[in-house]
Amino acid sequence: MGHIIGIDLGTTNSVVAVLDGREPRVLVNEEGQRVTPSVVTLAVDGAPTVGAVARRQGLMNPARTIASVKRVIGRTYDDAQPLAGRLPFRIARTGSGGVDVLVDDEAVAPELISAHVLAKLKRAAEAALGAGEVDGAVITVPAYFDDAQRQATRRAGTIAGLDVRRIINEPTAAALAFGLGSSRDCRVAVFDFGGGTFDVSILDVSPGVIEVRSTAGDTRLGGDDVDQRVADALLTQLLAETGIDARADRAVGQRVRDAAERAKVELTTVPETEIQLPFLVADATGPKHLKTTLTRARLEHMIGDLVDRTIECCESALRDAGLRAAEIDEVLLVGGSTRIPLVARRVAEFFGREPNRTVNPDEAVALGAAVQGAVLGGRGVDVVLLDVTPLSLGVETRGGLFTRVIERNTVIPTSATRTFSTVVDDQRAISVQVLQGERELARDNRLLGAFELAGLPPMPAAAPKIDVRFSIDANGIVSVSATERSTGKVAETRLTGATGLEADEVARLVAEAERAERADRERRGLIERRNALEATQLALERRLVTLGDDVTEVTLDFAQRAVAGSKAALGGEVIDERRYIELTGALLDAAAAVEDDAIGAAARRRGAAPGGETG
Ligand code: ADP
Ligand code: MG
Repeated sequence: MGHIIGIDLGTTNSVVAVLDGREPRVLVNEEGQRVTPSVVTLAVDGAPTVGAVARRQGLMNPARTIASVKRVIGRTYDDAQPLAGRLPFRIARTGSGGVDVLVDDEAVAPELISAHVLAKLKRAAEAALGAGEVDGAVITVPAYFDDAQRQATRRAGTIAGLDVRRIINEPTAAALAFGLGSSRDCRVAVFDFGGGTFDVSILDVSPGVIEVRSTAGDTRLGGDDVDQRVADALLTQLLAETGIDARADRAVGQRVRDAAERAKVELTTVPETEIQLPFLVADATGPKHLKTTLTRARLEHMIGDLVDRTIECCESALRDAGLRAAEIDEVLLVGGSTRIPLVARRVAEFFGREPNRTVNPDEAVALGAAVQGAVLGGRGVDVVLLDVTPLSLGVETRGGLFTRVIERNTVIPTSATRTFSTVVDDQRAISVQVLQGERELARDNRLLGAFELAGLPPMPAAAPKIDVRFSIDANGIVSVSATERSTGKVAETRLTGATGLEADEVARLVAEAERAERADRERRGLIERRNALEATQLALERRLVTLGDDVTEVTLDFAQRAVAGSKAALGGEVIDERRYIELTGALLDAAAAVEDDAIGAAARRRGAAPGGETG
């Protein structure tokens, strides 16, 4: 039996691991390294170069070297466009509104670039375990990745020749790596500070079950920002010492940032370090060198505000989970940037406890994915992984309302069905608009996709029963179907057009919904009143047609006036709630009179009918 390997496909670095004994272990790549930079150089002709070599080539061949492609994988162009200024590559719109990466001027799908990284990790695993010994892979993604981003990640795996058994959330994987999920109940905070992104997740862990309760983060905050701060200081010093302003020079910038990163990493273990950059720039007087000493204290001073931002995210994740810092039992440090002593110190202060650092922070996510791989492959403990939907999912209904089918924070995998009907007679098709969000009106939420259920048989309004079923699988991928019960007609969609949703965006949308809650509730109430008026009017009109002459002239006049009042109100602008209630009341009074007439007419017919009952 082969193995199911675990892969942390990171923005900056990727790692592959396996559980083939008692504990999961990291597998080294062809260069003997445990961590592989997620960087790919696509030579004009010839094989792609991946990892540390590609990263070094970035200096020489920047136009064909792609880093941080995870930032755009599975996104729509419109979502990625605002990031464009911060991306280390140019992007183009695909025919279907997605994103391609421009390598020179050639458009390449992000999945293809990620596939090169995954293929290298697959080779590393095969070299370590034996060819043919890799049966499948578990790949991790950030908890806030939406459906489209997960599907694109899965596609990247398939392109790399991996059988992707499951996509799991990075914080969940981290918890598994720390050995959680098999014995006791606890509440866990996973603090993940990587190269380009930061996120924090609050998990509920109990034996066999791990649930993501909330997540918050900043996708524009990572170790790169620390490097940039140090690099800026170095370039300022260069300007002061030589009068040469190299801040706009890309090649110099890259060399200085690399030196800054090395210094930062050294300062994790030593209190001061020397930075030397010979022949950095030159002017008429000859080449200029940069030489300086950087202390840990100085570095901490430079990046205090960056660390403050991570702590603010912790506050918001706790708020969303409805917990206080003191209620967290374990704090796990994940991601290379948590090695910075200041970061660990601030986290300890905030949570009031020492974070757990027993697992290497760069490797924890891959190790946890390997644990899950072993479970799926029938090895190791039975840990079931449960995650939650970050936002509610539902459909647009009459009057532009958002009707939830799956509530926010529901544990996945899950499915739910709600039954809807038509609003007008002989409606032959219904359009299903699938939305995600927390607002009461459809237009304030995010449209994930739409499809039509057509070919309905002619039926009176409200007669058809249409079951709309939402299901979210263990990978967080959403499918929606609509079935008309009498004919069995079905239409369905798998959501591939879902737009990018960042942890900070989820938090923003939820906060926005909270702020708007009162106004939203009022508007929803109003639309529901209006819908009730319309439904009552249509029902009364249909009843009048059915009963025909059974309705007396007086009642008919009464009913017609109520209908006219309703029509006038429905034809115009939305009015106040009380007016809708009055008009509905008038329709109901008329309907009661109509039913009295119907009963009277039936009794008369029975009395007149031959053989009928006699009084
Ligand atoms: P990602 O999850 O974003 O792919 P990682 O978790 O591998 O990234 O984190 C990469 C970041 O960690 C880089 O910015 C790197 O400079 C930083 N890093 C790695 N080791 C150290 C260290 N010893 N001290 C400080 N930062 C470090
Ligand atoms: Mg990571």
